[in-house]
Amino acid sequence: MIKPHSKTISAIRSRLLAWYDQNARDLPWRTPPYLSEIDRQSQATNLPGAYHTLVSEAMLQQTQVATVIPYFHRFLDTFPTLKSLAQADEQQVLTLWQGLGYYRRARNLHACANVIMSEHQGQIPHTVDELLKLPGIGQYTAGAIASIAFNQPAPILDGNVIRILSRIFFITDPTDHTPIKKQLWSLAEQLVPETSGRPGDYNQSMMELGALICSPRNPNCNTCPLQKLCKAYADGSPESLPITLPKSKPRPVHHHILAIQHPSKPNTYFFEQRPSTGLWSNMYQLPTLELNHNKDFESDQLITYIQKHLKIKTKNITQLKTFKHQTTHLTITFHLHAITPTSIPTKLKPNTAWRSLTKLTDLPLSNPQQQATKCLSVQ
Ligand code: SF4
Repeated sequence: MIKPHSKTISAIRSRLLAWYDQNARDLPWRTPPYLSEIDRQSQATNLPGAYHTLVSEAMLQQTQVATVIPYFHRFLDTFPTLKSLAQADEQQVLTLWQGLGYYRRARNLHACANVIMSEHQGQIPHTVDELLKLPGIGQYTAGAIASIAFNQPAPILDGNVIRILSRIFFITDPTDHTPIKKQLWSLAEQLVPETSGRPGDYNQSMMELGALICSPRNPNCNTCPLQKLCKAYADGSPESLPITLPKSKPRPVHHHILAIQHPSKPNTYFFEQRPSTGLWSNMYQLPTLELNHNKDFESDQLITYIQKHLKIKTKNITQLKTFKHQTTHLTITFHLHAITPTSIPTKLKPNTAWRSLTKLTDLPLSNPQQQATKCLSVQ
C-alpha cells in the first residue's frame, strides 16, 4: 500500500487548494441561482446546495461539463426542488434528460428523490454510508455529495483522480485491476483533508485539475501546481499513465427501426414503449427489431415480423438510412425502414400510440430514435 509522507500530503492539499481558489471555473452547480429552502441552509455555510450537487453529479457521470450545463439549467427550471422532482412523472424526467444518454442515471435520480422524500423527510443524507443506500449512488457520488455539499472528509475516485494519482505516485500497474483500485481509494482517503481543511473544495480541485491541466493525452505540466511532486513528470512521459487492462471489443449487432406511417394521417407514425428493463428502458421508440447477432435481415422476414408482432399488414418496405450507434458493449447498426401499411389494427395495444412527428416533445426517445424521427421529418 502506498503511504505518502505527511509533508507530501500537506503539499498536495495546499498547492491544489491555492490553485483552485485562483482557477476554479464558475459552474452553475457551484454558485447555483436556484435555491430551495434546504439549499438556503447549506448556502449559509457557503456550500453548494445538496440538491444541485446531487443533480450535477448524476449528469456529469460519463458526460462533459459543457454538455451538462444547458441540461442542468433546464432541469432546475423544471424541478427547482427535490420535492418537485419526486412528484414528477418518470416520463417527464426522461424527456428532459433526452440527449444526455445513460438514461439509468435519470431513473435513479428520480427514484433517489422519492426515497429521500419518503424516508429522510426530504433531507439529503450527509454521510457516505447513508448516501450509499440511495438508488444509483455509488462510492464516488456518495463521496462527492458528502464532501461538496456537507464538507465531510470523504474521498472520491473517478477517471480524473485516477489519472492524477497514478501520475503523481507513478503507478504503472493497470488502475482498473481490483487491488490497484483499492490502493488508489486508499491514497484518495489519505489525501482528502479533514472538515477544517475544505474537503469539498479539495475534491473539486482534483476534478478541476484533471479537466483543465492533467489531461489524458497532453498534460500541461508547465502550469501544474503539482509539478514538483509528480513522479511521472520527473520520469519524462506522464501521458503514458494511467495503464488500463485491455478492453473487450464492443459486439456488432443490427437493429431494424420500422417507421410505420399512418395510412390516412400525414406525418404520423406508430410508437411503442420499450420494456421496463434493459437498454433505454421505458422510453418510446418506432418499433425496433433488435437482432442480437451480426447478420442482416431480408425484407420479407421483416414483413412477417410486422404482421405477427404488430398485427399490421404491409407489402412495401423501403430502406431509408443506415447509421451506427456506439454503446459501452455494442456497436449497433441501425437500419431505418419506411413501411406503408395496407391495414392497421382498429384497437391499439397499451403503451402504443400513433404520433405526429410535430408532437413528440413529451415522448422520451433515445438518441438513435431521435435521429430516426429527424430523418423521417425531412423525407
Ligand atoms: S505534472 Fe503533469 S502529469 Fe503531473 S500531475 Fe501535473 S499535469 Fe499531471
